[in-house]
Amino acid sequence: MQIGRVVIFISVDSNDIQGKTYLCRFFYLVNALGHMSFISHSGYGYSKKLCEDVASWFLNKYYPRHKIDVDIVHRGLKCDGVYGYCDVNGVYTKRPRAFLIDLQANMQREMYTRILLHELTHLAQWVDGSLQWNDEKLYYCREPVEKYDYRDQPHEIEARHNETVLYDLYMTEMCGVPAVKLVRGSFPNRLCAL
Ligand SMILES: [Zn+2]
Repeated sequence: MQIGRVVIFISVDSNDIQGKTYLCRFFYLVNALGHMSFISHSGYGYSKKLCEDVASWFLNKYYPRHKIDVDIVHRGLKCDGVYGYCDVNGVYTKRPRAFLIDLQANMQREMYTRILLHELTHLAQWVDGSLQWNDEKLYYCREPVEKYDYRDQPHEIEARHNETVLYDLYMTEMCGVPAVKLVRGSFPNRLCAL
């Protein structure tokens, strides 16, 4: 697998004429097997390198032949009571390829990695077609998820499971840390990742 890491450019947008509000957005190309996915990220309270490393590792490993755009925004989500969201970006289609991931700012490194992998699992569910919108209802494997409580929804069960599996795999492949030495278990008193 060919992995390319190219930081393309940084754009700075001023949101008001006084220049008090600036948003920096970083763009990053994932080039695997000649196909290109696109990662952009912005916000505060996060490691740009960790964001790029985790997202590009995931896309290169599981979607080297896809062209996927993912925009990762870091901001305060505590009022929402969540650590992350993953949504289709723009108009929903049956085969979405553009995604928006929102992440809580100022997460500890391990928590950040796990939550991002949780949200990337949802991205994968959208790309693979197991997660779909139909008649304003969310379906997982053609079953409406609304009949379950949030924690029992099958796409969330899969994402929580993958948090640990993918984290172990990522740490083993990227950091050389044997999975057996990793601390397992859920986070006490954690907010939810949707
Ligand atoms: Zn989730």
